Amino acid sequence: MKLTWERRRLRLQHPFNIARVQATTSVDKEVLLARIEYGGQTGWGEAAPSTYYKQSLDSAERMFASAADMLGHDPFALDAILDRLWAKFPGESAAIAAIDGALHDLCGRILGVPVWKWLGLDRSRAPLTSMTIGIDEPDVMEQKVREAAEYPILKIKVGTPRDDEILNMIRRLAPKKTVRVDANCGWTCDNVLERCRSLRQHNIELIEQPTPAGVHECLPRVREERIAPIIADESCVGYKDVLNCAGAFDGINIKLSKCGGIRRAVQMIHTARSAGMQVMLGCMVETSVGISAAAHLGPMVDYIDLDGHLLLANDPFEGLGGAGGRLTLTDEPGLGIRECASR
Ligand code: MG
Repeated sequence: MKLTWERRRLRLQHPFNIARVQATTSVDKEVLLARIEYGGQTGWGEAAPSTYYKQSLDSAERMFASAADMLGHDPFALDAILDRLWAKFPGESAAIAAIDGALHDLCGRILGVPVWKWLGLDRSRAPLTSMTIGIDEPDVMEQKVREAAEYPILKIKVGTPRDDEILNMIRRLAPKKTVRVDANCGWTCDNVLERCRSLRQHNIELIEQPTPAGVHECLPRVREERIAPIIADESCVGYKDVLNCAGAFDGINIKLSKCGGIRRAVQMIHTARSAGMQVMLGCMVETSVGISAAAHLGPMVDYIDLDGHLLLANDPFEGLGGAGGRLTLTDEPGLGIRECASR
């Protein structure tokens, strides 16, 4: 198998701010697209490394350079290949997710079946995705809500002193929509109960990561109030974190770049289910390549937040759609995506 990769500069339609990173105003973001060629077929995968998880484009590229000789000659030997990579690069989950995604795409293309079918899933069971509204000036946020008119589910980034003002504005513009909030670690054990109680008036579907990772001791008390399910994101990175979140959280948010790809994500979903927890699929800012890999797991989860490609002005791939919040799992083989001719 031949592994090659390239950097892609993505242009966002708007700057994207969250509670943890208030200073970000960049409208550009770079990712790595990986290609695995075998037997005349090509599989695509994406790495969206995050400095929050101590990864970078450079570290991912170094991993690819070493991994190119470690893939072997059988793309279906997924467990063996991924075990070798995890043993050598335990911190490079985003780069491993790219290889995992490319192998799933490649195997699907060789078999002539889409990944969702290969995994034994019923595509009609996938929920709609939310569209995320990042933190910004009130008039810009208002504009973003108006632009998101076609999406029935909004995810609002909170954790600022202006949360109530923002949510009042959202409810004024979108009184009937399903609204989720993500505090991105923005609250503390001293204020989380009061902040969550104040969400009651806004009719919130779920609350993502209210307190910092590891600060969980106050969350069982918040859950007792039954305001909305509390979902772990920064607190649940890989499969070893799932059971640590049981008790403090109602569910987990799985992102392929955090956990290392489809194969580990399936393991996390089963672990979460066995602990009675809900499951959400999330993403980074990434192209349709990375988003598709996650979307094929859509039929297994309760909530989808896979809007990374919808935030882009220059997605280099197409095939997944997303209009009205509906990601399309087609009958095309593999991940069901193709390169846009113009980009
Ligand atoms: Mg989140």
